[in-house]
Amino acid sequence: MGGVSRSAAVTGATPRSPLVQFFSARLARVQERMEEMGVRSALVSHGGELPWLTGYTAMPLERVTLLVLRLGEDPQLLVPAVEAPRVVAHDELFSLRPWRDSEDPLDIAADLVGRRARGVVALSDRAWAGTLLGLQSRLPGMRFVCVSEVTSPIRAVKDSHEIGVLRDAAHAADRVAAAVQSGEVPLAGRTESEVAGDIGARLIAEGHDHVNFTIVGSGPNGASPHHDSGDRTIGERETVVCDFGGKVGVRGASFGYCSDITRTVVTGSPSAEITECYEVLKGAQAAAVQAARVGVPAEDVDAVARSMIDAAGYGKYFIHRTGHGIGIDEHEEPYIVAGNTTPLAPGNAFSIEPGIYVPGRFGMRIEDIVVATDEGPVPLNVADHSLAVVG
Ligand code: ZN
Ligand code: ZN
Repeated sequence: MGGVSRSAAVTGATPRSPLVQFFSARLARVQERMEEMGVRSALVSHGGELPWLTGYTAMPLERVTLLVLRLGEDPQLLVPAVEAPRVVAHDELFSLRPWRDSEDPLDIAADLVGRRARGVVALSDRAWAGTLLGLQSRLPGMRFVCVSEVTSPIRAVKDSHEIGVLRDAAHAADRVAAAVQSGEVPLAGRTESEVAGDIGARLIAEGHDHVNFTIVGSGPNGASPHHDSGDRTIGERETVVCDFGGKVGVRGASFGYCSDITRTVVTGSPSAEITECYEVLKGAQAAAVQAARVGVPAEDVDAVARSMIDAAGYGKYFIHRTGHGIGIDEHEEPYIVAGNTTPLAPGNAFSIEPGIYVPGRFGMRIEDIVVATDEGPVPLNVADHSLAVVG
């Protein structure tokens, strides 16, 4: 592992920061897996892998950024020269190769991979099509695969540093959820957008660097799971689905980890139908959290929530998967969905978020982030799960 073993020689007695040790361990794991899979080179563009491996978040510009990983060679980070000052150098992890606008970064990458090389090269799933097509024409002997084939199983298992930041993010989101549930954020008589603005401001005040989304779906709008909060005024005795999250930054680095929580509240005493429906949802969500044990296939966790909602007669109103992994990206592996037979592993972090959506009438969802551990599932979100009645 050239890029990793180099560290001792280059840095000598200088102690490495804990964060750099995590990057170094991840690079070593990725290179091990490349070797196992017969992947000669991996080209990591913008997307979650880059900060996960280097601490650097590339803007999704038309100018190309590529971390070039090759078996037995030191990693090189090709960045546009205009972006280079933003890169925190970690000489023990990678060497920086800024490219000027008069240069062609795909030519540089192709030369590093080897123009006559044959074999498999992995490229970021979220690289531009232009990057892929340009590389394919320069590397005719290579077969291209998605870098996630190499990195996903590693990224899906969060290390202690990642779980620490995810927990901080979840608790920050919990405090905002508690403010909604207590009535501190007024709902009835205000528009969804106003409430969404309040929630976003509170996410920042509670420690997020960035707001990813704030969904406020009131009354019939709650039946659209990804509703765009709009100018509808929230009425009395309506359910309001509040789903929001952002990013909490890693100290000393330009990236962070996501929060994502949903709580449903009701403005005034709920009807018997809403109360009954909510009890079904709450039971299904809690059962799915409890089912999320190490070794259990992800699809079985989905089935637990789905079968309970089905049995109560609301199955046709539960129109999405039960959850998604979370980390640097809002949505990543593992997906808690029918068809995903991969067993949960210790360190997997994911949402459990069943919902019931009755078109034209109302919706409800409860969402927590959960970590699978050898001691059982650990919910990172602890905000109250009961149906809060607010003003
Ligand atoms: Zn959510
Ligand atoms: Zn979610």
